[in-house]
Amino acid sequence: MSCESNGGGCSCSGDAVSDDTAAVRARLSKIKHKVIVLSGKGGVGKSTVATNLAVALSSEGKRVGLMDVDFHGPSIPGMLNLKKEKLTSNGSAVVPFEVAGLKVVSIGLLIDDADAAVIWRGPMKMTAITQFVKDVEWGELDYLIIDSPPGTGDEPLSVCQVIEDLSGAVVVTTPQSVAVDDVRRSVNFCHQLNIPVLGVVENMSGFVCPKCGELTEIFKSGGGEKMASEMKVPFLGKIPIDPQIAHAGDDGKPYVYHFAKTESAKCFEKVVSPILAMDVMNGKAAAEQVKEKGGNVMRIAIPMVEGKLSNHFGHCEKFALLDVNKDTGAVESREDITPPPHEPGLLPKWLAEKNADLIIAGGMGNRAQGLFTEQGIIVVTGAPVDEPENIVKAYCAGTLVTGDNLCDH
Ligand code: ADP
Repeated sequence: MSCESNGGGCSCSGDAVSDDTAAVRARLSKIKHKVIVLSGKGGVGKSTVATNLAVALSSEGKRVGLMDVDFHGPSIPGMLNLKKEKLTSNGSAVVPFEVAGLKVVSIGLLIDDADAAVIWRGPMKMTAITQFVKDVEWGELDYLIIDSPPGTGDEPLSVCQVIEDLSGAVVVTTPQSVAVDDVRRSVNFCHQLNIPVLGVVENMSGFVCPKCGELTEIFKSGGGEKMASEMKVPFLGKIPIDPQIAHAGDDGKPYVYHFAKTESAKCFEKVVSPILAMDVMNGKAAAEQVKEKGGNVMRIAIPMVEGKLSNHFGHCEKFALLDVNKDTGAVESREDITPPPHEPGLLPKWLAEKNADLIIAGGMGNRAQGLFTEQGIIVVTGAPVDEPENIVKAYCAGTLVTGDNLCDH
């Protein structure tokens, strides 16, 4: 029912939503960051990246869910040794499995015949995806990692439509040019749907000989990296072909957990780090992330109203841009600049052009955080209403108290 139909006296936005949409929104409302993992085609390591990303975030103490909606080969049950398990219900909802604190649900564990699902027609898949998302009770999560069907067709589109407010996408490719062409389409797919691209992962990039350690470029390496730079999206890193990664997947042992000390695990770590930074609520952890960016000076952007932090960055009067010495915490310069008129997605690009490394804000929505991450800007939310110098001082001392991510818009 729209507002017009009740005389326009209603204070709601006027959007009529279906029961399904409302149910999906309610189910996902307690999840802070929803990250979809996409690939131009199957077999490039999308599920491997999704699984290891989820496990790595969980190992960092984050509350994480992993949702496998890849009809073509729900491989996550195998990768986490859950193949023989069956999902259970608590009477009103499906309960995810817990593997060392990580919550996991796979469409392969929910439908009787995963092979048959591949030939389902579009509407059936849409219904299945909606039902699947609607029926699982995740509870409170910092991250939900979604292993999407491959490609840019109806299936990933349905997933993106059902899960409305995705924080962003991680796009997986292999380095050879055919795969890179496919993934270019994935990046365009995200642009069309307004989904921030958190970054591109170049998987199977070179082979490290287990005996002599020599790196052989089986496919021409660097294709994914070049494409990311051409399309102006972040490059998250390369992961080599490592037989141990394949064996770990086959044995149901998440690689980054069981082989945490290896060089390949370090490659995964690099890929995970900007995603982890999305949930950096405390100044100390953000400082670590900024340090990794190199250079002696960091540029911190703070949205302001009447000289103090504005809780709604999108409608602030000014941005204070402070250049701060990373070692001493001294403010070297400050400039207050007027942002362009409010338009979705514009501020992250504008602040990236101003070379901001970090934004310290009061409240910020999921999508906006993803857009800043897409621009390589680290986000700290929940900062108090105070003068920019005081905020920066506390931030550099590691004493910035960050509360809830409240947006007063
Ligand atoms: P997708 O989800 O894109 O179809 P998968 O993640 O299922 O791809 O990976 C396909 C196969 O390749 C799996 O057997 C997996 O273990 C293996 N694999 C993925 N990445 C690597 C890697 N970097 N090194 C070795 N094997 C890998």
